[in-house]
Amino acid sequence: MKKILIIAGSDPSGGAGIQADLKVVTAHKIYAASVITCLTSQNTQAVFDIHNPSIGFFENQLEKVLDDIKFDAIKIGMLGTSKIINSTAKILSKKANNIPIILDTVMVSTSGDMLLEKKAVEDLKSKLIKNSLLVTPNIDEAEVLAKMKIKTLSDIKKAAAKIKKLGVKNVLIKGGHINLSKDFIYSILLDQNDEIHLIKSKKIKSKKQFHGTGCSLASAISCNIAKDFDVIESCRKANRYIYHSIKNGLKVGKGSLVLRHF
Ligand code: PLP
Repeated sequence: MKKILIIAGSDPSGGAGIQADLKVVTAHKIYAASVITCLTSQNTQAVFDIHNPSIGFFENQLEKVLDDIKFDAIKIGMLGTSKIINSTAKILSKKANNIPIILDTVMVSTSGDMLLEKKAVEDLKSKLIKNSLLVTPNIDEAEVLAKMKIKTLSDIKKAAAKIKKLGVKNVLIKGGHINLSKDFIYSILLDQNDEIHLIKSKKIKSKKQFHGTGCSLASAISCNIAKDFDVIESCRKANRYIYHSIKNGLKVGKGSLVLRHF
């Protein structure tokens, strides 16, 4: 069985973070291991608090699983602080050299809460992005990473090129947070050959927001990469998986809806 390591934060409401990642990986019939970067106190309405483990404990978790298990892909989600980013980069460069890394550049939640220290953005850019196979920012994150405003499809392509210059092989900018068309969402993949691929999906009309879509998409892509699909096919397949998970979404609490992962 293929094996994935997830490095991410905990969402006790189960819609996002490690809990969503584990459901996605299980739905893809892949073995999931998980190293937790932080515990959040949150529900489907808001994030209330964040607790970071000591750096020593975090590093111990990551080193011990990497020493023991040979992974086919690594998915990175919420990191939270510069310290966690630096430790992750240091350990992965020593112990996970040839494993494809899919980095979801988590910064702010759908509920508007900060999930990454402001000062940590530079560390994310200079230490982790460059060693990744793929990064998956949404529009807001792409604006921060590329240091530019994004209003049009041509802006998205420019931002992807700027992010690629940080050293990452492939950049997927998710189009869910920009209104380019009445009926469709367009995400842009800039691949390792500098080719642009448009990934299109039908908009799903819903009055409520969805929680956990970004985490789940990056995990689904990681599963496809682990199964040896190329990056383009991995993104397209994951996009279809998320479309159906949203279409059949669940109302489990009083706030955002969550994905039906299987
Ligand atoms: N909580 C955790 C632990 C996360 O990792 C994430 C996203 O990666 C979120 C919350 C935010 O999810 P969303 O923006 O889909 O609400």
